[in-house]
Amino acid sequence: MQISNSSRPSVPDGVHVDDLTLDPWGLLITAHTTTVDATCPSCGRSSTRMHSAYWRTLKDLPWQDRAVTWRLKVRRFRCSHCPGRIFSERVPGLAARKARRSERLAEAQTDIGMVLGGEPGARLSRRLAMPVSGDTVLRLIRHRGINSSPPPRVVGIDDWAWRRGRTYGTIVCDLERRRVIDLLPGRSSAPVRDWLAAHPSVTVISRDRSGPYAEAARTGAPTATQVADRWHLLVNASEALRGIVERHQSEIRVVAHRLVHASSDGHDGTESAPTSELHNPRRDRCETALRFHGEGMPTKEIARRIRASRNAVRHWVRTGRFMPYRRAPGPSRLDRHLSFVETRWQEGERSATVLHRELRA
Ligand SMILES: [Zn+2]
Repeated sequence: MQISNSSRPSVPDGVHVDDLTLDPWGLLITAHTTTVDATCPSCGRSSTRMHSAYWRTLKDLPWQDRAVTWRLKVRRFRCSHCPGRIFSERVPGLAARKARRSERLAEAQTDIGMVLGGEPGARLSRRLAMPVSGDTVLRLIRHRGINSSPPPRVVGIDDWAWRRGRTYGTIVCDLERRRVIDLLPGRSSAPVRDWLAAHPSVTVISRDRSGPYAEAARTGAPTATQVADRWHLLVNASEALRGIVERHQSEIRVVAHRLVHASSDGHDGTESAPTSELHNPRRDRCETALRFHGEGMPTKEIARRIRASRNAVRHWVRTGRFMPYRRAPGPSRLDRHLSFVETRWQEGERSATVLHRELRA
């Protein structure tokens, strides 16, 4: 972040400061422009024919811990070459046309926003005497992204909270340059698809596992390669591991019981209690619930007595017995073809479509 140096003076050429007012709200700089002419934006020729003057209000970088505001008198000129053309003079080195903040303030607030995001960035900026709204920080980030990115090749697409828990958008990052390049409304497929269609330079898309982004990538950039991002790969792996652990709970419990048993008394544990007899508070509550239900007690009363949710009680009553988490997978229609599929897999056939076709033949 380059805030100020000799090539960017605090008061740019062509601006004269008339007054400085310090009050509890900040520092007010009253100034006016001094150049004799201005360049017409239509024809590029200069004009000295002043038409009128007006005040511009600009926020700037703070002075110590005070917010700084410019009250700058600028002029409108009449062009001598374009009939009827009246234009406002520019103030280079201070602010862009129609901007309400100086270029250097916009840069600082964009940098803060790039690190912290909208609302948190706005909070820090306010703390540093550069008051701004979260929406404006987002607009600044967006503006920088649109203006200064070369065509992106590798992008990451993920959902992103404009306001946590309420409104979500989609964030697009250039993964090679490690920067945010766009923020899109919503988390649906259409805006992402349109964005990808408008950026044919994209060859690799890193995305989460959600359907909408997959759909958007397929339709908006059909030739691009889709990859799962690192975070979602880890989520996939941990979910798979949890699935395995849940399916083999009873075996794990028996082994754990034997290990504890063996280490406590040196016994090898072969005669230890089977899983079903191990103490399980949830199982106890389920059995109590079923007993109460058998006695004709209403669900609400059962739930109150055993301190379980009514949904849990209803579930137990419906099932009629205790079910520890997920059941082990039952027989699959694929079982009788398993040896064939394994053989073909070892032979190197990894396409599900081809395997399916061979099975049907
Ligand atoms: Zn002109």
